[in-house]
Amino acid sequence: MKRYSAFAIAREAANYHQGWERAWAKRAPKKRYDAIIIGAGGHGLASAYYLGKNHGITNVAVLEKGWLGGGNTGRNTTIIRSNYLQDPSAAIYEKARSLYETLSQDLNYNVMFSPRGVIMLAQTHHEVRGYQRTAHANALQGVKTEWIGPERVKQLCPIMNIEGPRYPVLGGLWQARGGTARHDAVAWGYARACSDMGMDIIQQCEVTGVTSEGGKVTGVQTSLGDIGCNSLGIVVAGHSSHVAEMAGFRLPIESVALQALVSEPIKPCMDVVVMANTVHGYMSQSDKGEMVIGGGTDGYNNYTQRGSFHHIEETVRALIETFPMISRLKMLRQWGGIVDVTGDRSPILSKTPLEGCYINCGWGTGGFKAIPGSGFGFAELMAKGYSPLTAEFGMERFREGRFIDESVAAGVAH
Ligand SMILES: Cc1cc2nc3c(=O)[nH]c(=O)nc-3n(C[C@H](O)[C@H](O)[C@H](O)COP(=O)(O)OP(=O)(O)OC[C@H]3O[C@@H](n4cnc5c(N)ncnc54)[C@H](O)[C@@H]3O)c2cc1C
Repeated sequence: MKRYSAFAIAREAANYHQGWERAWAKRAPKKRYDAIIIGAGGHGLASAYYLGKNHGITNVAVLEKGWLGGGNTGRNTTIIRSNYLQDPSAAIYEKARSLYETLSQDLNYNVMFSPRGVIMLAQTHHEVRGYQRTAHANALQGVKTEWIGPERVKQLCPIMNIEGPRYPVLGGLWQARGGTARHDAVAWGYARACSDMGMDIIQQCEVTGVTSEGGKVTGVQTSLGDIGCNSLGIVVAGHSSHVAEMAGFRLPIESVALQALVSEPIKPCMDVVVMANTVHGYMSQSDKGEMVIGGGTDGYNNYTQRGSFHHIEETVRALIETFPMISRLKMLRQWGGIVDVTGDRSPILSKTPLEGCYINCGWGTGGFKAIPGSGFGFAELMAKGYSPLTAEFGMERFREGRFIDESVAAGVAH
C-alpha cells in the first residue's frame, strides 16, 4: 500500500486526486483462516494488527456484522487516560496510552492523538482522599499524574466555576499526557494496516454460530456462510453475552446504553479534558469547536443504541454549576452505544472453556483509551496462550473473588 505523506498529497493534488487507493481491500471470506476475530471495533482491529505485527500471524479475518468502527468505537467521547488505581489496570492502560503517543507514525495514519491533559475533578472530600491515593498509587506504578489544587484547576480551565454552592472544586487529579484521539481514525488506521498485511476485513458479515469438535473451536457460521479457523477471538463489546452463548459459555457482563452529545461549535475556550465524577459528566472541546459531553449509563439493562431526551437534560444539568456557560449553548446531536459492563468495572481478556476460543470484552464505558494496549496483550494471549498484560484479567477472577476493583475502591467507573 502506498504510504501517506506530504509528498503523496502534493502528488495527488497535481493528479486531480485520481491515484488514492482504497484504505482497505474489500474481500469475500476464504474457507479457512489461522485466526478469526469477531467484531471490527477498535479492540478487534488492534488485536488483528498486533497478531500480524508482533507474532507474524497474518492469515486472519476480522468479521463485522455492520460497518467497521460502527459500534462503540465510533460513538465514544475519545477520552484517553491511564490514571487507574489498581496495578493491572494501570499497566494495560498506560501501555495503551504510550502506544497512542506514536500510533500515527506506527500506522502511517493520522489518529489525531492530542495529549492536551485530563483533569478528574474532586468535588467532595471523599474524592480528595480518593484521588490523592490514586496519585500515590500512580507514582509507584510509573504513571505520571499529579494532585493539583483548585487554583491550578482554574488556571488550566478558566471557563470553570470552582466556587459552586453545591459542588465546589476542591482540586483534581491531573494527567498532563492524557487527552483525546479521533475515534474513527483509530479504527480506520488499524484496518488499513491490517489490510496492508494481507488480512481480510469483512463487513456486513454477522456471526450467527460457533462450531466446535471435541471441546475445541473449529470455526464460525455467518450470514456469508461457514468459515473455519484454528483460533477465535470474540471482541464484540455490548454483544459479548450473546456471542459467548453461541460458544457455549456465560459471562458476568451486563449490557447497557451509554449516551453522549455535542453542542453547536463555538470559539476555542477549553484546551483540556475535564471529568466530574461526582455529578457524573465529562467535557472536552473538539477541533471543530463543539463541546463534547458525556454522561452516565442508563439505569437498566438494554440494547438501545440511541440517545434519549431525558439524558441530555440530566447530563447538562449535572455540569451546569461547574460550567455555567453551557446553559447558553444549543445542543446539536446526541447518540448512544451499547456498553459491556462487569461487576468490578475491569475488562475480561481471557481464555474460555472452549479451547482455541478467547474473549476480549467488559471495557464498558471506558475502553477507547485502552485499544492499543488491549490489542497488544490480547494478540499475545491468542498467539502464545499467555500475556503478562492480560494475566490478571481472566474470567475466572469472578469465580475466585479476585476482583480488580476500579469502581467502588477507585471511585471512578470509567
Ligand atoms: C457514548 C459513549 C462514550 C464513551 N466515552 C469513552 C471515552 O471517553 N473514553 C473511553 O476510553 N471509552 C469511552 N467509551 C467506551 C468505548 O467506546 C468502548 O469501550 C470501546 O469503543 C469498545 O470497543 P470495542 O472494539 O470493544 O467495541 P465496538 O466498537 O462496539 O465493536 C464491536 C463490534 O462487534 C460487532 N459485532 C457484534 N456482534 C457481532 C456479530 N455477531 N458478528 C459480527 N460482528 C459483531 C459490532 O457491530 C461492533 O462493530 C464510550 C462509549 C460510549 C457508548
